[in-house]
Amino acid sequence: MTKDDIITLPNPALREKSVRVHVITDETKQLIDDMKAAALDWEDSRPHEIAVALAAVQINRLERVVIVRSDFENKEDRSFTVLINPEVVKYEGDIVTEHEGCLSVRDIYGAVPRHDKIRMKALDENGLEIRARAEGFLARVLQHEIDHTNGICFIDHIDTQEDAFFVLTEKGDLEPTPYANVVEAGIFRE
Ligand SMILES: [Zn+2]
Repeated sequence: MTKDDIITLPNPALREKSVRVHVITDETKQLIDDMKAAALDWEDSRPHEIAVALAAVQINRLERVVIVRSDFENKEDRSFTVLINPEVVKYEGDIVTEHEGCLSVRDIYGAVPRHDKIRMKALDENGLEIRARAEGFLARVLQHEIDHTNGICFIDHIDTQEDAFFVLTEKGDLEPTPYANVVEAGIFRE
């Protein structure tokens, strides 16, 4: 699998709900390997970005499987944590607005309000239950990925039309982009 297997908006699959994984099979393990390969290939093509996480729907497989990078700060660490059937158990903390991007929203970043603390549960790749509290950037990443399993993309959380969208410059900086350009990309829910 390569970055070319990653689907992007307006592909309608990204607005569909994924199904729960009931039994973790060799096929599930292959899916996880495919997701890691696609995410890392994407990263290797992008000088300023890290492939922080990916949901299975993003390679067009409507299953509740998510991978999250083990270390967001260190690109050399190419390992991921696997979350199967992840869900938010409780939203906590304050609502904080920060920039987000997505491998399935080509070249557009947005300012997205989210809870800064959550409690989540999932299964690991061996089927063992994981329960965790997350805050800050990790809490944001988990909410973004769990949204994907429910057919929601980050742009669906943005109400404000002005000053909420950005593009990445060649130097790696975020620069505001007019709302009209984002509309033209055809990525909003109908
Ligand atoms: Zn995403």
